[in-house]
Amino acid sequence: MSIRQLPRDVAAKIAAGEVVERPASVVKELIENALDADAHAIRLEIAGGGLDLIRVSDDGNGIAAEDMPLAFARHATSKIDSLSDLEHINTLGFRGEALASIAAVARVTLLSRPRADTAGAQVSVDEGVLGQVTPAGAPAGTTITIRGLFASVPARFLFLETGATETAHCLRLLEQYALAWPVVRFTAISEGRQVFNTPGDGKLLSAIVAVYGLRVAEQMVALDEESDAEQPQEHTSSERPQVSGYVSRPSCYKATRQFISFFVNGRWVQSRTLNYAVEEAYHSLLLTGRHPIAVINIALDPAEMDVNVHPAKTEVRFLRERLVYAAVQRAVRAAVLATAEAPELSGRAFSAPAWPSSDSPFASLDGALPGLPSAALAAASATPGSLWPGAGVEAGQSVARGAAGGFAVPGVAAEGAVGGKKLPALRVLGQVSQSYIITEGPDGVYMVDQHAAHERILLEKMVAEWRARGIASQRLLEPQTVELAATEREAVEDHLEQLRGIGFEIEPFGGDAMLVRAVPATLSAQAHPQSLRELLLELVGADSEAASHGETWEEHALANVACKAAIKAGQPLSPEEQREMIRQLEQVDAHQSCCHGRPTMVHLSLAALEREFDRR
Ligand code: ADP
Ligand code: MG
Repeated sequence: MSIRQLPRDVAAKIAAGEVVERPASVVKELIENALDADAHAIRLEIAGGGLDLIRVSDDGNGIAAEDMPLAFARHATSKIDSLSDLEHINTLGFRGEALASIAAVARVTLLSRPRADTAGAQVSVDEGVLGQVTPAGAPAGTTITIRGLFASVPARFLFLETGATETAHCLRLLEQYALAWPVVRFTAISEGRQVFNTPGDGKLLSAIVAVYGLRVAEQMVALDEESDAEQPQEHTSSERPQVSGYVSRPSCYKATRQFISFFVNGRWVQSRTLNYAVEEAYHSLLLTGRHPIAVINIALDPAEMDVNVHPAKTEVRFLRERLVYAAVQRAVRAAVLATAEAPELSGRAFSAPAWPSSDSPFASLDGALPGLPSAALAAASATPGSLWPGAGVEAGQSVARGAAGGFAVPGVAAEGAVGGKKLPALRVLGQVSQSYIITEGPDGVYMVDQHAAHERILLEKMVAEWRARGIASQRLLEPQTVELAATEREAVEDHLEQLRGIGFEIEPFGGDAMLVRAVPATLSAQAHPQSLRELLLELVGADSEAASHGETWEEHALANVACKAAIKAGQPLSPEEQREMIRQLEQVDAHQSCCHGRPTMVHLSLAALEREFDRR
């Protein structure tokens, strides 16, 4: 075939494919247009997964009759004029492609009346062919109706899912914009039924109630806006992002990352990096495989970013990505640490668990004190969570020692560790069941799980060592021989370098045995052949597990070492040992939970005691 210019309609359909991939992309463009038109109320109607009908109505500025044909022309927009405008985009749209693209693959009717006009007008476009603009009665604002979406596009170009799934995508999109724009009243109607609405009262929490429900909303905490003084000073205020929003308490979580949303200047954006910043802030407070719920608004000078990365505008590029990353992580970490106080026992006869919430597995343990992990649960969640309690790891520092690239905080320099609230000074009263240390603090009784607490202390110590210069290694007076099966030996041999990185010195010892000459110093007291064997197998078998949780091998490994080295439940401790443990716990940042995300302590406040004894 010789080279030919494609016919216009073919070219238009190909171009449209970039913008309009599925029904939800249409919904997105229409909602963005309504928001750009200063709408206060936006209503979405959808049928047949969006293929039969998508209608978006708004009460915004409207489109004058004479502008209507132009609205459907490619690269026609009222939002920017010149190239330089591209650097200061304050609107969601700017490419002037959406209506043209949608009209290339569907039948579109536009009905609109600018607020100031007395009469409205209407025009239809059928597969790119523009009809006559005719007068029509209309409320102030714009209604765009899309029918027969993709009807003329060869089926093999479409990768659509079932109608129900496409509908779900469309509704999710609307929900995201409802979270981003609490001042706007959103309504969704699916197959003739109203399925969603927000009050439009300007409160983000109201939108969260509408989208995620009251139970989740009750578990959300607001991010404090940072004062200028708290921000890194090497940047001017226009360069600095302002982060606001809500994040879930560690006791409230989901099984996927889908509930983490970012809005940059009101635009919903996807960003793996920012996801990482949020999850990093929960490190050690959420069990692996659990993800927080977050609604995070980032306000940033438009000159500090590029939104013109992709035709669908779902990605943005930040000029100073590290700054945005660090601001998000700081804000989330501060909020999470401030709320994850020791779980409070409340209510009569310890009946109402105040923390963790009923979403958490702890709550279902009938009869157990709320918040205290049962042994069964502790055993069930032997997978270590992820760790780092502080802010970012200083890039390049000490990481070189480790294998596998060290701790994966991509390119972020520590901006000063986020200070968690330290524990108040506690007076040790004694040990219960050889497992819990009971203490008195400024407001009542604090009960500490000795294993969880010790695990947390050891982990923080090792993390600090790792950051500073690498894990301290301790040569064993008597090297220990560990007997392994052939495949186990191979696995250990494959990891010798990584194991060395965290303080082990191991060498072959004939047959399938290995000789352990040195261990992480923390572990030296526990270096018996049997426990070393168990630990080594855990460490070398954890590659895929760590990877699937987005952890490095070292993160995973240190948590395992801490767990092994920590004193166990059931071990009697002298009063001196108990005091020492509490003293060390007071120094720890994320003292509320062990590295598996289980609580380290439960608090029984004086008020709760008074209630129990009917004193108030
Ligand atoms: P863009 O949003 O990139 O400007 P679109 O193709 O989405 O391009 O829309 C073209 C133009 O049509 C917009 O610039 C705007 O002037 C007008 N328009 C589209 N939808 C609406 C609406 N709901 N209310 C008012 N004007 C609209
Ligand atoms: Mg647009």
